[in-house]
Amino acid sequence: MKIVAVQKTSLIDYPDNISSILFLSRCNFRCPYCHNKDLVLDRLPKIDEEVIIDDLKMRKKYIDGVVITGGEPTLYSDLIDLIRKIKEIPLLVKLDTNGSNPDLLEELLNLKLLDYVAMDIKADPENYSKAIGVEIDMDIIKESIYTLKNSKINYEFRTTVVPPFFNDKIARNIGELIKGSSIYYLQQYVPRNTLDPKFENIKPYPREVLERFVEILKPYVKTTIR
Ligand code: SF4
Repeated sequence: MKIVAVQKTSLIDYPDNISSILFLSRCNFRCPYCHNKDLVLDRLPKIDEEVIIDDLKMRKKYIDGVVITGGEPTLYSDLIDLIRKIKEIPLLVKLDTNGSNPDLLEELLNLKLLDYVAMDIKADPENYSKAIGVEIDMDIIKESIYTLKNSKINYEFRTTVVPPFFNDKIARNIGELIKGSSIYYLQQYVPRNTLDPKFENIKPYPREVLERFVEILKPYVKTTIR
């Protein structure tokens, strides 16, 4: 387990709750538009976990929960121990994931250690590997989607709308992939400090285009621009 950064207070990262955010190092994806270069490439020093837990205990009156993000937190099997410690404080736990470890996701859900999950949907199946910069078996992503849809907790799917990996057809295909789920957020792309520097030259879609995607997605899932 390698926690490399802590944001003490956030009003926006855990819906309806005040949270602290823990950032875990490393990711198994290489999304060219990723903003978390230092995390993904594991360039930051580790922070002592016990110090973080003690600090959360001290601040439990001022926050509702903890957001665990990355990088990709599910790369660590001892994520279970970290979350147990946070739940014992007690605080709510939201997990951000790229959906690449459905087994650990299911285990965490079965152990009732998660209160909210946000899972990224990077593109439609045809474009997924291109969007994440590595090969992936789509069954893995589909299994995570299925697991969340059948869970009893609050969850969201979300996509950063990066023009090469999102268009009308891709929106429809993603709609098929997650149809019947609770909520889907489209996030505007900010071309800054990207893993692949070429992506800093990619112009985000204007707001009207994002609104068109929302219309396309409407028959499948409630969709909102964040
Ligand atoms: S955007 Fe992609 S590469 Fe960056 S942390 Fe998320 S999954 Fe990993």
